[in-house]
This record gives sequence, C-alpha cells and structure tokens, in this order.
Amino acid sequence: MKTVLVTGGNKGIGLEICRQLSQTGYHVILSARSQERGEAAIAALAKEKLKVEFLLLDTADEASIATAAAELRSRHKALHALINNAAILPVWGGSILESTAAELRDCFVTNTLGPILLTQALLPLLQAGRPARVINVSSQLGSLQNMTDGWTGYGISKSALNAATRKLADALKPRGISVVAASPGWVRTDMGGEGAPLPVEKGAANIVRHLTETSGSISGQFLGEQGQIPW
Ligand code: NAP
Repeated sequence: MKTVLVTGGNKGIGLEICRQLSQTGYHVILSARSQERGEAAIAALAKEKLKVEFLLLDTADEASIATAAAELRSRHKALHALINNAAILPVWGGSILESTAAELRDCFVTNTLGPILLTQALLPLLQAGRPARVINVSSQLGSLQNMTDGWTGYGISKSALNAATRKLADALKPRGISVVAASPGWVRTDMGGEGAPLPVEKGAANIVRHLTETSGSISGQFLGEQGQIPW
C-alpha cells in the first residue's frame, strides 16, 4: 500500500484530498497544525469508514517540521508521496501598494518556505519510497505571465513556490522523486469563498489525479485543469 502525507489536511481541499486518496486505497497521513482540528477531521473520516493516520505538523514552524519528520521516520520506512497543501491567504484582494511586511513574510513562510523545508526533512523517507512524488499545491494567482495587481503576498508566495518546484524537480530527479506544482482551480472553501465555481470535491480531484492518473515521469511542470499553466 502506498503512503502519502497531506499537509493542512483538517479542512477544505486538504481534507477532501485525504478522503479521496483513502478511498482510492492509499495509506493517508493527515497532518494539521492543531491536534484538536486534526483529530476532528480523522473522526469525521472514520464515520465514513475511512481510516487515516494523524500527524501534528505546523508547516510554518521549523521545529515542528523537524519533530514531525522524526516522528514519521519512527513510524514508517518509506513515503511514496507528499502533498504540500497547507497555505494561508491573509489578505483578500490586496494591492501591492498596501501590502504589509507581515503579510508578505507570513505568506512566504507558510506558502513557500514550509513546502521546501518539509521536502528536505522528508527526503530520506521519500527516497526510500521511490519512485516518489511531491505535489506542491499552487495557484493560478502565482502565474507570472497572468499576473496583475492584487492578492499580493499570496500571489508572490505561490510564484516563489513555483520556482521552488522547478529547483526541487531538478535536484530530485537523480533521486527518483518527481515534483510538480498543481492548481486545484477556484474552489468553494474558507479560502476560496462562496463565490468560487468549483465544489471542494472537484478541486481536490484536480490535485489527486496528478498522483493517481499521471505518469511519475512528469516533473518540473505547473499543472491545471486544462494541462500546463504558463509560469
Ligand atoms: P483552507 O480551506 O483555508 O484550508 C487551508 C488549510 O491549510 C487548513 O487546513 C489550515 O489549517 C492549513 N494551514 C494553514 N497554515 C498552516 C500551517 N502553518 N501548518 C499547517 N497547516 C496549515 O484553504 P483551501 O482552499 O483548502 O486551500 C488548500 C490549498 O489549495 C492551498 O495551498 C491553497 O493555496 C490552494 N488553492 C486554493 C484555491 C481555492 O480557490 N480555494 C485556489 C487555488 C489554490 P487551519 O485549519 O489550522 O488553519
């Protein structure tokens, strides 16, 4: 059975990714920064007869990443996939002319640095699970080609995540690990808001298929519903 770790798995797209991968037969490790919210999500899945494992992990906290990675190494010999899903959107809209240092810093720490540091920390487990995959959940708002003002901290941090995806893909190719950036589309979650066109099931499926349906030889790409998204 293949083992996958999902960050920010307690709600929204992350929780639905956990549900769909568990239904598909993966052993899912649902991680969350809150023990309480994580356990509530595990309990909700258990009511649907889906058994997933919990891991406490705050992806914005270096110490938490190190502790979680050590905990995971003590529980598992290999990891076949990592889905870097956890992210924040602290300011809705938001012109660059009004962006604060705190907004920019917080977005970078959670949305860019977290996935990079977690991938580094889990490298021994991912190598043991090769061919392994890392999926960085990105956003159309990170596309440089389509970039306009607004969504500043979030957009810049997702562009930087895309850049990290290219670098990780190159660095990890010789180690048998593929890395892609994938957008779920605009999805009705706490982050996406009520006006978003896609239900959470579809948004999660747009990520899950890059694990279950595409070839592991695809690496270093920015993928959306209609294929590649311009960087
Ligand atoms: P969401 O409903 O706001 O859920 C975000 C999840 O990330 C929550 O579980 C949250 O945990 C977790 N999280 C945030 N900071 C964390 C941290 N430091 N450590 C651990 N977990 C943390 O958002 P969503 O819509 O499901 O988004 C999921 C992914 O899709 C994100 O990467 C987002 O950028 C991307 N995305 C979403 C949309 C959209 O329209 N919704 C569009 C494009 C891309 P708490 O409950 O503890 O806060």
